[in-house]
Amino acid sequence: MSRREQILAEMGLAPLWHLRGAEHAAEPELVTPVADPRPAPPVPIAQAVSRVAQTVLEAVSAPAATPAPRDAAAKGSGLAHMGWEELDQAVKDCRACGLCKARKQTVFGVGDREADWLFVGEGPGAEEDERGEPFVGQAGKLLDAMLGSIGLQRGQDVYIANSVKCRPPGNRTPEAGEIAACHPYLERQIELIKPRLIVALGRPAAQTLLNAEIKISSARGRVFDRHGIPVVVTYHPAYLLRNLEDKHKAWEDLCFAVDQMQALKKN
Ligand code: SF4
Repeated sequence: MSRREQILAEMGLAPLWHLRGAEHAAEPELVTPVADPRPAPPVPIAQAVSRVAQTVLEAVSAPAATPAPRDAAAKGSGLAHMGWEELDQAVKDCRACGLCKARKQTVFGVGDREADWLFVGEGPGAEEDERGEPFVGQAGKLLDAMLGSIGLQRGQDVYIANSVKCRPPGNRTPEAGEIAACHPYLERQIELIKPRLIVALGRPAAQTLLNAEIKISSARGRVFDRHGIPVVVTYHPAYLLRNLEDKHKAWEDLCFAVDQMQALKKN
């Protein structure tokens, strides 16, 4: 079995799938985010993130016992001038949302700081909280296998970050206010990395990045524009571990992302 076949086997994808040719030849148009027709959740992530973008720490629904949140505008403008080390320290010191209370440590992000590829997930889990690195548990192993399946490797032309830098208790999905509070850090990471392409892993990450209500099943196979940086979406590896039947869709999405990257490098 070749290395590639081994990787695909680790992803649970057998028989071997090949990168598609003709069906990928017609690239989808670059589209702007569209509103999901479904009823909006009580506190949509996109809305909360949008509020932050407009200066808003009012959007941070900090719990009563949470330390006083810092002013988002001041936070944002301060971050705008930060390099990597300052930004990392700012995250370590951050107590802007309730997730700071139960964390063992912050999980900043990892990888090549000049990467073409940026993968953005949801938030740290228990193992990530222990080790201070994103995607190191079972989902991380699957992500590494997914990266390997398209010829990528953690740390080499790839940066991995999360929408929130502290572990949500019980590995729950981060709340909209928590994502909004943490968004300036992700924003600054993107500014520093300047990736050619962003892959959003899961719905919270997609909504955070695109500032829109997103449904993964309908957003797959499309290219979204995030301030000039193309974004494609796929399922979060943790979801794939629970829904093995969707792994082949993630494989298709990665192939699609590779097609986009190849096109970007030609231009
Ligand atoms: S999740 Fe983000 S905003 Fe909340 S305390 Fe951690 S670093 Fe700060």
